Amino acid sequence: MSRVFKSPARYVQGRGVTAELGAHAETLGDSALLLADGVVLGLVEDEVTTSLEAQGVEVSTVTFGGECSTAEIDRVAGIAEERGVDIVVAAGGGKALDAAKAVRAERGGAMVSMPTIASTDAPTSALSVVYSEHGEFEEYLFHDDHPDLVLVDTAVVAAAPTRLFRGGVADALATWFEAAATSNSDGDNVVGGKPTRAGTHLAKLCYETLREHAVSAVEAVERDAVTESVEAVTEANTLLSGLGFESGGLAAAHSIHNGLTQLEATHGATHGEKVNVGTISQLVLEGRDDAFVEEIIEFSLDVGLPVTLAEVGLDDPTREQLDVVAEAACADEETIHNEPFAVEPAMVRDAILTADGLGERVRAER
Ligand SMILES: [Zn+2]
Repeated sequence: MSRVFKSPARYVQGRGVTAELGAHAETLGDSALLLADGVVLGLVEDEVTTSLEAQGVEVSTVTFGGECSTAEIDRVAGIAEERGVDIVVAAGGGKALDAAKAVRAERGGAMVSMPTIASTDAPTSALSVVYSEHGEFEEYLFHDDHPDLVLVDTAVVAAAPTRLFRGGVADALATWFEAAATSNSDGDNVVGGKPTRAGTHLAKLCYETLREHAVSAVEAVERDAVTESVEAVTEANTLLSGLGFESGGLAAAHSIHNGLTQLEATHGATHGEKVNVGTISQLVLEGRDDAFVEEIIEFSLDVGLPVTLAEVGLDDPTREQLDVVAEAACADEETIHNEPFAVEPAMVRDAILTADGLGERVRAER
């Protein structure tokens, strides 16, 4: 199979770049639909509208319902169709962006991704993660096209809740481990091929950037401050993690995340928080040495990320509950099979249990 690397056409990041939206988007169409939830509309609607209208692009808005579900995608696609728009601009978190990608895939035209939080690697990908209306993971939708433009205003990102920024660090921390597993197993990436050196090494750069800048960046975001470390980590969480996971490949960490979503008790934890439990579990599953697993747990604690099941809503989970998680994580279509060895549910359950114990232990020793 051939090696494939795919990416958005344009990525723009910096303090205050929302004002530049029109200049970067004007070639994409004449009429835009802005999709965002009520809170995000309050943050960006005026500036988005002003910036696009200044370039002669008409703008109308639709309020996002909050879940990237089939029903919500159909509803927004219907509105886009009715208004005859040729650009869908989504602002907000991963779910709003994913819904907009699916709407564009149904109707064609252009798609602009404006993450207002650096919390997942959704903004740059051509993938929508579809959930039920109750929040359980349902399926991945793989689209032909990437966003035409990804625009990240670091002033907006830094002003968002720190917990979400931390979650982005967790989602990005998984990227290198998953891309390395995929590279080692000669597994498939998420864009329909084998990884290129570029895909794998962007994932590695993502990891190195986090290790060098994440603690300082989290402190800055805690104060709504934009520093060079915030720029570095926003790029790691968004661009490097996004390209790294898609073109580098996913493995156990995200499958364990998907498994965890089967238990309702985890729904209060963010995507990244659940992924972090998945990352530490992946390292245990792979038999990494004690010192390295401990180093990653320490780093997680320095950043303020969950390292135990209790922190993602599972106080004293039963073995049966973890079997449900492990079974779901090992479904045929799951990326856990990109690990360079055969993975069985019992191995996954035991890795999760052990990772939880190690997380508790390292925390207690601090
Ligand atoms: Zn993710």
